[in-house]
Amino acid sequence: MSMRAVVAMMEHETNTFSPVPTPIERFGTPDVAIGKEVYRRFKNTGTGLGAFLDVADEEAMEIATPIAGNASPSGPVQADAYNMMCDAICDEVEKGCDVCFLDLHGAMVTETTADGEGALLERVRSIAPDLPIAVSLDLHANITEKIVENCTVLVGYKTYPHVDMYEAGQHAGRLVVQAIRGKVKPVMVWGNRPILAQTLRMGHDDRPMAPLIEMAIQAEKDGLLAASVFGGFPLADIWAAGLSVVTVADGNREAAQTISNRILSAAWKDRAEFIFESEPLSKTIARAKTLKGGPIILLDHADNTASGGTQDTVEVLEEVIKQNLEDVAMFGICDPRAVDEMERMGVGNTITLSLGGKVDMPSIGRMGRGLELKGKIRVITDGDFPVTVAMGRGTVASLGKSAVFETENIQVVVCSKNVEPHDLGCFRSLGIEPTLKRYLILKSRIHYRAGFRAIAKHELPCNGVGVTSSDNSLFRFKSVRRPIFPLDADAPEFPNYSS
Ligand SMILES: [Zn+2]
Repeated sequence: MSMRAVVAMMEHETNTFSPVPTPIERFGTPDVAIGKEVYRRFKNTGTGLGAFLDVADEEAMEIATPIAGNASPSGPVQADAYNMMCDAICDEVEKGCDVCFLDLHGAMVTETTADGEGALLERVRSIAPDLPIAVSLDLHANITEKIVENCTVLVGYKTYPHVDMYEAGQHAGRLVVQAIRGKVKPVMVWGNRPILAQTLRMGHDDRPMAPLIEMAIQAEKDGLLAASVFGGFPLADIWAAGLSVVTVADGNREAAQTISNRILSAAWKDRAEFIFESEPLSKTIARAKTLKGGPIILLDHADNTASGGTQDTVEVLEEVIKQNLEDVAMFGICDPRAVDEMERMGVGNTITLSLGGKVDMPSIGRMGRGLELKGKIRVITDGDFPVTVAMGRGTVASLGKSAVFETENIQVVVCSKNVEPHDLGCFRSLGIEPTLKRYLILKSRIHYRAGFRAIAKHELPCNGVGVTSSDNSLFRFKSVRRPIFPLDADAPEFPNYSS
């Protein structure tokens, strides 16, 4: 008799400093996927969910797909949205099943819990205490005891940009199948160090992350079932935020513990490298002017879309205009009101508008501030394009109604939804050829590398304004455990938090 599998996705990276709201509407294109629509939308995609569907199909399982929601990072998830997704999953588990595959993020904070994934998994386990559960998680997961205690195997991405979401899902999915067949006995060990690492320092190609991930890969080659290094997500002001490691061994807890300790000790030794040092914006833009060739990528990382930025601050754009850079395209300012204005005026017409700055950022004490610009309306589109890079391949990115606003030497994509520029389609779908531009301003930090690194001549982090800044002094941390490096420069490797 075939096994019955519950397969679902609930993904959100929550920036507790972000003013951008997170209702259920944010969890899908055009909406959260329910029932059969989940399979239709995610089968054959480069996602953890796509991999779980493939594993379940390979095993000829009967597949139930209650829900799949994946929202661009923003503020805490609204309670209704969270409950709806958890209820859908739990109701399906309650009907009876042999295995559960969950594509989760690991850094979800909601209006009601600081541990969205842990609370869900605990609930699933309470319904079906012996149910094998496979979980794939993002590299930026803030792991908690509740997450690790309430699943059978857990595998995180080994890349940032996340070009191995599919592989992580396949790894976790196949492991749980082997466990069901009695071929392996997974035991998991979770460990951490008090490091609030910055995401700008977590690229898998760079130090200090690269050697840690290499250790995890080597441990798997040497026979460990899985080893995942989680950089953590530092813009979630919750007790458990920070770097951790989860290892899965075949029955041998000590083996899992040994590798975990080894990777964590190495991370602790290199902790200073997890901190990004910014230079003043004007200096970076002046340097960009002296560089030869193109495209030169200017990363507006303090307003990074994929970390919960408002995607509408204008400081980097303003400095680029001030220093008169030529042949520039920008992706993108999220400003639905500006798009509406442009649509009313019509393509080909010239308009003066206040671009961006519609969203206030109380957590960093800044009001939204737009930039008054005169320019020509080049394009208006519905904003959908297919993702072709490995990260999310086969899914549809939706910018919402979008326009190209051209002012002097700059073409700015203005969109209605928050979308990370990780695929060249974000320009090409609006008729801009990014490879031919001298400068590309991207509201991105590391994910741009998935599609743009191959065409980039130079890549410069630009210290603009926003709720994803790498300047810790802008944020008032209240809930994260202390001491923790670098908020506490002299934090010991093993603090005693209970005292
Ligand atoms: Zn991530």
